[in-house]
Amino acid sequence: MGYLSSRPLKTDWFGSLRPQLQTKRVNVYSACPVCRGAEETIVHALVTCPKVQVVWNRVGIGTGTPGSVGNIISDDIDNFFDWFVKIFNEENMANKLLMSALCWAIWDGRNEMVWRKKETSVESIVMSAKGYLDHWTSAQNSLIETSWTGLQSGDGAELWCPPMENSIKINVDAAMFSEANSYGIGLVARDRHSPLLEARTECFIGRVNPEVAEAISVREALSWIKNRNWPRVVVEIDCLTVVQALRSSIHMVSLFGQIINECKQLMLELGHVSVYFIKRSANVVAHNFARASHLYSGCIFGLEDVPTNLLPCLVTEFDG
Ligand SMILES: [Zn+2]
Repeated sequence: MGYLSSRPLKTDWFGSLRPQLQTKRVNVYSACPVCRGAEETIVHALVTCPKVQVVWNRVGIGTGTPGSVGNIISDDIDNFFDWFVKIFNEENMANKLLMSALCWAIWDGRNEMVWRKKETSVESIVMSAKGYLDHWTSAQNSLIETSWTGLQSGDGAELWCPPMENSIKINVDAAMFSEANSYGIGLVARDRHSPLLEARTECFIGRVNPEVAEAISVREALSWIKNRNWPRVVVEIDCLTVVQALRSSIHMVSLFGQIINECKQLMLELGHVSVYFIKRSANVVAHNFARASHLYSGCIFGLEDVPTNLLPCLVTEFDG
């Protein structure tokens, strides 16, 4: 699976476990950092740690340990690979993929505890695993769909152009600020006659996949349209995954899927909004506003009070 091979190698992953360092006579404390109730072996960290078992139970994949869902393999699982292969062979395709993703998410959660002293909830481990999967699935899809047949007329613009008479165009984009543990969005509304009608910037604390942030930018644009009662609006975004998801009838259970559903609901209510995919080169202004969102969280700008550094790109794009 391309997804797995793109992650760090197993040797690094397992090699970093403390009991193994101890066999090499590196003296480190080896209690499980999550439950502190047992030695941290591979199988403990990923399967038998009581807190980890809750994660596996939550998605309906048993760990084979007493008290877990599904069949009990043995009272004492001592080898991670044996466990993985046994459960893997019993599960359907969706759960096979989820198993791999969950292992990574559990390991990430464990690292958050070790390096940042931050406890990760069962919900966020499961959510992050499902997020990985959606991301991976859509990456696979976009490989297949570089010549995506779902492209509509209005998609694929390389240069921004003003909307038709009597309609408004909103360009949206997201930016990730991983060092500040936050992400932001920029929404820019324009009509045919002015370089800027109104722009909004919003910054959120936390970490999400870029696709999730992009989907949030569409959702915020749609609620904005609803509040302002704007007739005839076109929304443009440079994230193909979001446009594909909006036009697809596939139901996704992840956070990304939930936001897409909210967008679909809003689009149904509004009735007069279309969302198009454009190239990044046609989305420079929204990109710049998204980048600036960490300085201007929760701001609304008009042409008269737009930050000076954002003015040039507005004028350039408007003049073509
Ligand atoms: Zn533990």
